[in-house]
Amino acid sequence: MTVRRLDEGMINRIAAGEVIERPASVVKELVENAIDAGATAVEIVTAGGGKSLIRVSDDGGGMTAEDLQLSVERHCTSKILDDLLNIATLGFRGEALASIGAVARLQIATRVEGAETGYAISVSGGRIEGPKPIAINRGTRVEVKDLFFAVPARLKFLKSDRAEANAITDIVRRLAIANPAVTFVLAGADRQEVRFATDDVTASTADLQAERLRQVLGSDFADNSVPVDVSREGVRLSGRIGIPTFNRANSQHQFLSVNGRPVRDPLLLSAVRGGYSDLMPKGRYPVLALFIDIEPKDVDVNVHPAKSDVRFRDAGLVRGLVVGAIRRSLEDGGLRADTGGTAAALRALKESRSQVHYPNNGQRAGFQPQTSPHRPLDWNYRENGFQNGATANGTDNRAALHEAEQPGFQETGAPSARTEFEPAHSSHTAFEAHPLGAARAQIHENYIVSQTADGLVLIDQHAAHERLVYERLKTAHEDNGVKTQILLIPDIVDLTIEEAGTLMAHAEDLKALGLVIEGFGEGAIAVREVPALLGKVDAVSLLKDLADTLQETGSAALLADHINAVLSTMACHGSVRSGRRLRPEEMNALLRDMEKTPAAGQCNHGRPTFVKLSLTEIEKLFERR
Ligand code: ADP
Ligand code: MG
Repeated sequence: MTVRRLDEGMINRIAAGEVIERPASVVKELVENAIDAGATAVEIVTAGGGKSLIRVSDDGGGMTAEDLQLSVERHCTSKILDDLLNIATLGFRGEALASIGAVARLQIATRVEGAETGYAISVSGGRIEGPKPIAINRGTRVEVKDLFFAVPARLKFLKSDRAEANAITDIVRRLAIANPAVTFVLAGADRQEVRFATDDVTASTADLQAERLRQVLGSDFADNSVPVDVSREGVRLSGRIGIPTFNRANSQHQFLSVNGRPVRDPLLLSAVRGGYSDLMPKGRYPVLALFIDIEPKDVDVNVHPAKSDVRFRDAGLVRGLVVGAIRRSLEDGGLRADTGGTAAALRALKESRSQVHYPNNGQRAGFQPQTSPHRPLDWNYRENGFQNGATANGTDNRAALHEAEQPGFQETGAPSARTEFEPAHSSHTAFEAHPLGAARAQIHENYIVSQTADGLVLIDQHAAHERLVYERLKTAHEDNGVKTQILLIPDIVDLTIEEAGTLMAHAEDLKALGLVIEGFGEGAIAVREVPALLGKVDAVSLLKDLADTLQETGSAALLADHINAVLSTMACHGSVRSGRRLRPEEMNALLRDMEKTPAAGQCNHGRPTFVKLSLTEIEKLFERR
């Protein structure tokens, strides 16, 4: 074989493969150029999923005839750069236009401010024509037709027009979020026109960002997210993050940008996962938009030709900042559950309302008081409160409670002398002023109904209590003070040999978490102490679940890596089960505890713990408004 030097056209086509992977990459490169040129407005028009046409017009600085001629050649850029480690522009490699010209029909028309005329140039499969004079306003219009006509093999790898058009929409949304001061219009045969406009460019960055997020992600996101704004050692992190119950099935709805550059950086994505780790249901992803502003010299953007990965000089700092800020913002954001829960509840109530006229035809069992198999209320209610003691089915609920004493639950705020609900008729009771209000009843032995100053709240007692126990276990563990409860007669649990092996491999670590176990012959384990917070637990199912939890990340992994998962599993076993009757003061204590506990709006599996209905919403249900 002879070694030959590749000709220019071939070099460009090979290079183009890295920069221009699909139509969306062309859009990204052209829009980045427009932003680098100082555009305040960018219009993107596409057809055929971007394969037949992509046109990007901007009102930026434009190019002179000489610059225009150079711009389509490889390694020609106005943006360098004597220092690759200090890049303040989106582009810098000087290869996008040359690459596009190598694989498509490219036409550029441009004019600089004050010039007598504009100029146009065209490149088709690498052949350059022009520049020649043309009439055009200040700015630049780049048109790309028949993408990949020069490399048909690449065409075969493209998806349907619709899928490619969606990828273009996605990249434009990302660019629009990362550059909130720029107006974006996305139009053409591929879609209905989308417009993200900025009316007041003098507004503060924070206001611009907030408005842009509302435009791109909708008011749902605005309603179900909390702000983030922290700085450390020259790195600023700002934006909005969705509350955990407002989640999606993939990470497509996470918008991360570094110095105005949208990125899908593995380090940042994993930091986000870390921040939400024990708040998200499995397989669900938060929705968020985070902006990182950092000294250009502290971040390397020259990692990949597509420039969507970055490398931070101090990765640990950035990771810590992201994880910590997400945690703190969710905690400061207070007690919230997805507004979608309220909407769903309202829909369900409306449907049941229309069915209540025909109870015998209704499919729903929920709204038929006479025929319901459930007791409507387990307590005898008197005007000034509930009678304690006897319940409708004749058992003594106090005794039942003592039997399953919940230390975690009683230690705070449970009033001793006063064991009744506050009277319902005094409308301004102290409890009602609290976000979760005053408990009024427990229904179906799992749901607490409480009255707030302006509506009602329905609380899932099991989900809520699970979160409280978990947060307490975490705090106790962090303070090295998990109190244990010694079992007088150790529980002997039979497991598979693998399960027992996994647990015994972590015996020392589990001890630090308050669970003392010992091997008891093949496949059997003796449980000697359990965390006191858990109250009475079923040792068999706790150990089996713990073995599963530990095996999920591999039994060789350090327990430190899944302490939270272990604590969460423990909490689930130590929580008030649904089906347990609570005394009024226990319910109120639970509500007060929830208000004090970080992230109490969702259980450890990410499900909401309560739903709120405002009086206005209730009145609408009854058509009083
Ligand atoms: P890079 O952006 O890495 O410099 P490109 O191939 O994307 O490389 O662009 C080459 C050059 O063409 C840019 O450096 C810039 O000077 C010029 N250019 C490209 N697009 C525009 C535009 N929309 N407005 C003004 N100048 C542009
Ligand atoms: Mg560029």
